[in-house]
Amino acid sequence: MNSSEYWNPLLETMPREKLRQLQFKKFKEIFTWAYDNSRFYHKLYSDAGIEPGDLKIYEDIKKVPKMEKAMMRTAQGEGKDPFPYGDILSVPLEQVTAYRQTSGTTGQPVYQADTWQDWELSTEAYAYALYAQGYRASDRIFLPFGYNIFIAFWAYHYAGEKLGCEVVPGGVLNTEARILKIQELKATAMGATPTYVLGMAETARKMGIDPPKDLLIRKITVAGEPGGSIPATRKRMEDAWGAKVFDQVGSTEIGHWGWECRFQSGLHVNEALYLVEIEDTDTGEPIEKPGKRGKMVVTTFNRMAQPCIRFDVKDMIQWNSRQCDCGRTFRLLDGGIMGRADDITKVKGVLLSPTAIEEVVRDIPQLSNEYQVVVTKKGDIDNITLKVEILPEYKNDEAAIRTVLVDQLRVKTNLGYNIEFHEYESLPRSQAKSRRFQDQRPKQH
Ligand SMILES: [Zn+2]
Repeated sequence: MNSSEYWNPLLETMPREKLRQLQFKKFKEIFTWAYDNSRFYHKLYSDAGIEPGDLKIYEDIKKVPKMEKAMMRTAQGEGKDPFPYGDILSVPLEQVTAYRQTSGTTGQPVYQADTWQDWELSTEAYAYALYAQGYRASDRIFLPFGYNIFIAFWAYHYAGEKLGCEVVPGGVLNTEARILKIQELKATAMGATPTYVLGMAETARKMGIDPPKDLLIRKITVAGEPGGSIPATRKRMEDAWGAKVFDQVGSTEIGHWGWECRFQSGLHVNEALYLVEIEDTDTGEPIEKPGKRGKMVVTTFNRMAQPCIRFDVKDMIQWNSRQCDCGRTFRLLDGGIMGRADDITKVKGVLLSPTAIEEVVRDIPQLSNEYQVVVTKKGDIDNITLKVEILPEYKNDEAAIRTVLVDQLRVKTNLGYNIEFHEYESLPRSQAKSRRFQDQRPKQH
């Protein structure tokens, strides 16, 4: 593999032992910075009786207290100075140049401050990804997302420019107008959520445009939902566009920590810019070996305004043992993000993963891309209803499709379902993150 495969050849092929030393050095730097400059972190660490001098070897990292979103909200809450970032902020407010926020679907949003250098780092992290996915200066990228307060594809935009690609901001346009622009400009790549990638292809076909034939999009980077790492969903997107689809993960508070390279063998963790730990949910010990699922704990290196240190994201992940053909030493995750720790609920005493259901539904070609899962409780019994849409041309095959669905769901999830068939296009559709899983059981206290 020659060096033109990598955005940063030195870091992406660094021997594991050296990489680990680098990670420890960078962890210690950001820990010290936060301890010295953030009221929130200083209190968190003082209360736990740990200070920078206590970090002597890599294994000491696990002694550092974790933090989670609810703690960030408290630290920023009630108009604490400097507004609106409160006790987390670790630089003078004058140095903040970028504002973003989380969607706040589960409560008050988290406000994210970045300095110019922090933002440069976020785009650098995305540049690793796009370069690994084969983006080059000859690409013309179209970005069909709402350019607003949410992080979404902002870093993708700047990373594209950094690589020398030409980037077209497809902000306020509606879906039809975006498709026409992609066609007019002969755009070669784009980024969007899996839901929107599939929705755009449906809209295009209604306009009489067949994406693989009539459009030149050949690389699509997806983020915001797990679909890019679900084989059946990826296949649907790739077939609908005649393009390669790559998964990309990140969040407002962390940055863009993982991505697939052009070999599509799983998510690479960018271990030069982030420390990803996997924690056993039973013992709390780190999981270093592949094949065991645990909770992700992540640290962002070098992001100074609002450090993100040992952040418990509540996502479930596991290491993959595979060596990627690209030659990178960055480790791979198996199956991407395997669902939120909160979403993987117990139904009838069995752990249910929404991504496993998606894999089954999207693998049946007679069904549309949309589905909904509703969990209810009647007396002591949990019931799962799966709502799917049958494509108009297969209306008479309902019985046969039902049999396949029930069998496959039983095999993949060990659970039984009530299957509801709905008219094509009758289930709700959204452009943003879709909420397909609804747990309507009364909450246990
Ligand atoms: Zn690779």
